[in-house]
Amino acid sequence: MSIGPVDDLYREVILDHHKRPRGQQRLDDYDVQAEGKNPACGDEVTLQLKFDGDRIDGVGVLARGCAISTSSGSMLAEIVDGLSITEARAVAAAFKEVLHGETFPTEIDLGDLEALAGVQKFPVRIKCAVLPWVTLLDAILAHKQGSEPDPVSTEGVADGDERMSVTVEEVKR
Ligand code: ZN
Repeated sequence: MSIGPVDDLYREVILDHHKRPRGQQRLDDYDVQAEGKNPACGDEVTLQLKFDGDRIDGVGVLARGCAISTSSGSMLAEIVDGLSITEARAVAAAFKEVLHGETFPTEIDLGDLEALAGVQKFPVRIKCAVLPWVTLLDAILAHKQGSEPDPVSTEGVADGDERMSVTVEEVKR
């Protein structure tokens, strides 16, 4: 499978997550479930979150699509399980900033997500990488509001969208 001319080491990390996705399970018990789509590539993700107070205490990510989106979903499951809502939003914000070629936010540990930083050179694939994270922010927002999440599409996420307008600075405040 072609995933673009990314660094060999990063390619290994991405393909490992794609072949052995973490958190690819349906949770028996969850608080919120959100659906995300990236029509440009055909990627789909179903994300389930279980909360313990303000902390994420269980993540199920069922991702279908290209290696970039499925590996990003696997990395999400690995990184955000156990984080507070604020910490999870900070990782999403930092990853989004990296994908858009902004300053590398060293104060946020991106873990294996760093392997996807090279996607910034391929605008079409940015939506693949960001899909699970938009879906995460959608799920968190719905949980905070006590509402059911609307299905989210990368086509419909404009810069001003509340779900993706989150920045590292904003989360740190
Ligand atoms: Zn894709």
